Amino acid sequence: METRQPKRRIVLVPLPAQGHVTPFMQLGKAVYVKGFSVTVIQGHFHQVSSSSQQHDFPDFQFVTIPESLPESEYERLGPTEFLLKLNKTSEASFKDCIGQLLVQHGDDIACIIYDEFMYFCEAAAKEFKLPSVIFSTQSATNQASRCVLRNLNTKKFLADMEDDVQDKVVKKLHLLRFKDLSVSGLGPLDRVLELFNEMVNKKTAFAVIINTVSCLEDSSLSWLEQEFGIPVYPLGPFHITGSMPSSLVEEDRTCIEWLNKQKPRSVIYISLGSVAHIETREVLEMALGLCDSNQPFLWVIRPGSIPGWVSLPEEVSKMVSERGYIVKWAPQNEVLAHHAVGGFWSHCGWNSTLESIVEGFPMICRPFQGEQKINAMYIESVWRVGIQLEGEVKRKRVERAVRRLLVDEEGACMRERALALKEKVKASVRKGGSSYNAFDELVNYLKTE
Ligand code: UDP
Repeated sequence: METRQPKRRIVLVPLPAQGHVTPFMQLGKAVYVKGFSVTVIQGHFHQVSSSSQQHDFPDFQFVTIPESLPESEYERLGPTEFLLKLNKTSEASFKDCIGQLLVQHGDDIACIIYDEFMYFCEAAAKEFKLPSVIFSTQSATNQASRCVLRNLNTKKFLADMEDDVQDKVVKKLHLLRFKDLSVSGLGPLDRVLELFNEMVNKKTAFAVIINTVSCLEDSSLSWLEQEFGIPVYPLGPFHITGSMPSSLVEEDRTCIEWLNKQKPRSVIYISLGSVAHIETREVLEMALGLCDSNQPFLWVIRPGSIPGWVSLPEEVSKMVSERGYIVKWAPQNEVLAHHAVGGFWSHCGWNSTLESIVEGFPMICRPFQGEQKINAMYIESVWRVGIQLEGEVKRKRVERAVRRLLVDEEGACMRERALALKEKVKASVRKGGSSYNAFDELVNYLKTE
């Protein structure tokens, strides 16, 4: 009689933030479909298991690390200090979790796949002799630029910045200038570099997975493989390969009804992701410029994203409601797939960038942090499917950018290039494509190890 082999288990450890949890859950689905069991280990906040989407993962096991930090610590410390502390606090507790899982599931854990920022996982992997894989949910170029930053002497780097070499191009990353490597918004440079160093020093993983596509970032990927000395698997975009809902916030679906009433390709969709904050003054300029553009707009304004926000002046509010529609959180992928949408104004988070490319949209780029600035440069100067809105946000500039994108010939050319890129990216996840093959290779390895 044939005995059924028990499924091998993959342990996933995402960073508790929307832009990281989403690709992790998509990866989870992709490995689940390939016959693995999945355990998701999470901290005390931004838990998928407590969001309304839990029913979408009925076969996944969710475990909470007891000693993980609360969200208030993120608010208090900011991203870099939070991550440094989280890694210290969680190490022992995570070892206990893995120890218990091994008792529960026998020795059938195939691998721990952890977010690159959750490097505390390596200690447990080492202790229990489990293979580990690093998952980077950001772009390969961003990782490469981090390596460059780390390899620079910090003091010299700071001095160089004072010496006004910011516009010099970094040798190994032909397009990026020193000022583009900036880690603005993450905290003091020496602390950020300490975090980057820790991420690398703790590394014993046998491979790195990146949510990217080789046709988008070929040279950065080769560069990384050389730098890391271990295989780098570009498996993205995960929202195609493992598409499933994983929003931590309730989506307002009324915007789809509103989109249904708009003309094809007329709407500019505006979303600045799950973390960015904007000033009241900018919101007002944006609102006025959007109204002046005469194009309909769908605008995501996340609660808490405008510090000190009261409301738009009455006459502006009236104009906005005549031309546009505002929601607190949208079903973004559904919005981007809608025939009425013609362009995307984005903060250029990596997920949003990939989601836009997959739908073939030209973009207005308004990045906030270092990593988003790198993505914006690629969108504008490498793939040439968008324009950057630089400097202060002003009514006139907003109007101009929207019209360049949706009305002018320039926008039509960007759209053509975006559509060609879309085809290439979609081909990568089909049978025989680069992401498809890389995923097959990784899965075969995990099945046989
Ligand atoms: N998102 C969404 N609805 C919104 C705004 C954003 O579903 O109204 C999703 C978006 O599809 C993406 C994620 O939130 O998957 C944002 O991730 P990204 O990397 O773009 O930016 P971050 O939030 O990390 O800055």
